[in-house]
Amino acid sequence: MALSPMMQQYLRIHDQYADCLLLFRLGDFYELFFEDAKTASRELELTLTGKDCGLEERAPMCGVPYHSVNTYIEKLISKGYKVAICEQMEDPALAKGLVERDVVRVITAGTVTDPTMLEDKANNYLMCIFLDGKKTGIAYTDVSTGEFYVMEPEMNLLRAQIARVNPMEVICNDPPQLTAITGDHVRGLSGQPQTWFQRRNAEEMLCDHFHLTQLTSLGLTDRKEAACAAGALLRYLHETQKNSLEHIRTLRFAENGKTMLLDQNTRRNLELTESLRGDRRKGTLLGLLDKTSTAMGGRLLRSWVEQPLLDQKEINQRLDAVAELVSDRILGMTLSEELEGVYDLERLMNKVAYRNVNARDCLALCASLKRIPGLRKLLENASCSELVRIREELNPLEDMTDLLERAIHPDAPVVITEGGIIREGYSAILDEYREAQTNGKQWILDLEAKEREDTGIRNLRIQYNKVFGYYIEVTKSFLHLVPERYIRKQTLTNAERYMTPELKEVEQKIIGAQEQSVRLELQLFTEIRDSIAERIGSIQQTAFAVKKLDAYQSLSRIASENHYVRPVMTEDGSLSITEGRHPVVEQNMKDGEFIPNDTVLDCDENRMMIITGPNMAGKSTYMRQVALICLMAQIGSFVPAKEACLPVCDRIFTRVGASDDLASGQSTFMVEMSETAHILRNATRNSLIILDEIGRGTSTFDGLSIAWAVVEYIADKERIGAKTLFATHYHELSELEGHLEGVKNFCISVKEHGEDVIFLRKIVRGGADKSFGVHVARLAGVPHPVIVRAHEIQARLEVSDINQNTIGQNILGEESVLRKNEQMDLFEYKKDEIIQELQQIDVMAITPMDAMNT
Ligand code: ADP
Repeated sequence: MALSPMMQQYLRIHDQYADCLLLFRLGDFYELFFEDAKTASRELELTLTGKDCGLEERAPMCGVPYHSVNTYIEKLISKGYKVAICEQMEDPALAKGLVERDVVRVITAGTVTDPTMLEDKANNYLMCIFLDGKKTGIAYTDVSTGEFYVMEPEMNLLRAQIARVNPMEVICNDPPQLTAITGDHVRGLSGQPQTWFQRRNAEEMLCDHFHLTQLTSLGLTDRKEAACAAGALLRYLHETQKNSLEHIRTLRFAENGKTMLLDQNTRRNLELTESLRGDRRKGTLLGLLDKTSTAMGGRLLRSWVEQPLLDQKEINQRLDAVAELVSDRILGMTLSEELEGVYDLERLMNKVAYRNVNARDCLALCASLKRIPGLRKLLENASCSELVRIREELNPLEDMTDLLERAIHPDAPVVITEGGIIREGYSAILDEYREAQTNGKQWILDLEAKEREDTGIRNLRIQYNKVFGYYIEVTKSFLHLVPERYIRKQTLTNAERYMTPELKEVEQKIIGAQEQSVRLELQLFTEIRDSIAERIGSIQQTAFAVKKLDAYQSLSRIASENHYVRPVMTEDGSLSITEGRHPVVEQNMKDGEFIPNDTVLDCDENRMMIITGPNMAGKSTYMRQVALICLMAQIGSFVPAKEACLPVCDRIFTRVGASDDLASGQSTFMVEMSETAHILRNATRNSLIILDEIGRGTSTFDGLSIAWAVVEYIADKERIGAKTLFATHYHELSELEGHLEGVKNFCISVKEHGEDVIFLRKIVRGGADKSFGVHVARLAGVPHPVIVRAHEIQARLEVSDINQNTIGQNILGEESVLRKNEQMDLFEYKKDEIIQELQQIDVMAITPMDAMNT
């Protein structure tokens, strides 16, 4: 027995896409076979059936209808699979023998372009990493928008760079090595052929794609690793997209050191784009700042939040733009409204490049471009460099809108093959065809009237359907009147259908005109599509200006609504915040409920704040607020404070709470220590460090010792000397003030009111002298007897020495306290007498034996 020819075709194609699930088009279905079928039926909960394949056993098979294939692809992609779409390349009705089939597209997590599978306000990056000994090159792209970046990061920052870009998929020349370097799971990682990364191949790919003869104009001549990564990435795109990639028009350098690297913990702890509860918008900084009107603006703002700036000049340029819009609220609001009407031009350009646009997209493009003159006008009086540049970059592309307005029918359908797209007056020939069709209707009506009169059949009708074309229908009761020249075509229960040579002639005229007009419309539309494709570059430039404007109007709106202030960026490393607030926490409170606090830090006397205070006092909130204010300023945002003078931080590190990393199977303490190690190794004097409760995951004395040593190390100017906020429940650390340069004690004040504790939420100088854990326990509803007992134990502990070995005994009762005192006495035993005796010995006069005995 031999495999059927179709199965041979299937296996041949499948072989070329071995790492993919192959969706094989069979009529109205995409089918999967063999192992693929088993996988898909499991993952998609589809019924597994079988198909005769020529062999004894049927081939396992399952399938999905072609019209709903996207939902299934989306599910498979989100589960980490790659999907290859294999289409019928010819009309099965016309095919001689086996229908020709081929893969038209491979979809992977990093190459999704279908808007329904993408999040509007987030980029979908595919990253390519080239590892070459001690050097590395990175290229990454969002195929849906055409953004393309390269860089050559230092090896030790590779992991942080991956975290910064947060790609959905990573390809690499050496995956095991990459995993070894990052020490981490890399999402969607796969290896690709070494040859793709070879310099000559990569360069050829780049030159081909960007239509160049050499790499000089791309600025890649001295960047071998970046060039290899970029070439391999393009290769992967060509292999998977099988489409024009002309919307990828430039390559930008994501320079090392241009933006701040934020590690995963810090992103998470500061809840930048995802809250600790896993929420994507609520409770996050981005959720707060994002009042953008367009998806493009939303994506840009997200990337700003994820990559704060490091260059003071650039920060001030952004702040200038925000300030200008803050000072003119009406302008800001009008901009926001105007921007609402702008469609996602970036993702539209992907459709243009793939020749996937339909008439509705063209209308959307036209409507978007028509907003541009208005936006430009609004920026007429702009004075800061950013807004002026945006105004200049906004290109209304009037010839484009003019063309689209003239050409595309305002009610055009989504389908482009059935006509109704092109407007009247755009093409004289098309109008003629259409006239023939309209006239045709009249011809038919005339003919119908004539036939009725000739035959006397009152209810004779001429009708149309797709199978038979035009026909004359006569009901049963009038059949005796049907003339001989009528040719019978079809018999129904109540009627007969006929044809006449005359009707045939009219039909041919009408249908011919119809067919030709549909064909012409498609051709005209294709031309329009091509002329849009020629303008991709200009449209992208306008899109870029639009999204920046949108991000600025969003930041300015938030600044006004929430009474933020423009930060002043300092050069001497000093930080001073007057009445600072936590931007997100204050949102959940009524006006005036959030208590503002000041912060002063510099590079000398006030480098490190040791912050004590009971649980729930507000330590974490305070520290995060300082970090967020710094970060917001470097995004270019105003900040929640009355006044703020801030340095440019090279990095912000946070290590917060004793969160269990159960997923990775590491112990709490291990996680805590490795995070601390990461900070100690990477922080500089220009960094800002937030440490919350270091050393909590181990025994008191261990923890205290580690916390103490960490403070010393960070405070040491020779080693780090970073501005640091250190919250701790070890009151002992307060002793460091005065001994360690730059360290100052603070506490968050509380007031005792009988049994109650009142949280004042104010940070004040000095150490806290008491914990209020038991009070917090009571507030949290711990049963009364437990609270009473805890108070008792606390009282006993307070009277005794804090000595680890005796704590337990002390708690057990007064007796053991006594016993402890006796023990202490043992050491004190006859101290004076012994000293006296020793002093009386004449050491030089006694024998060694005497000395030993004594
Ligand atoms: P700690 O870290 O000291 O245990 P948190 O920072 O978690 O305390 O704060 C506990 C709660 O106190 C927060 O959830 C918040 O609701 C409230 N809080 C903190 N700081 C302030 C403030 N400055 N003004 C008003 N409420 C605050």
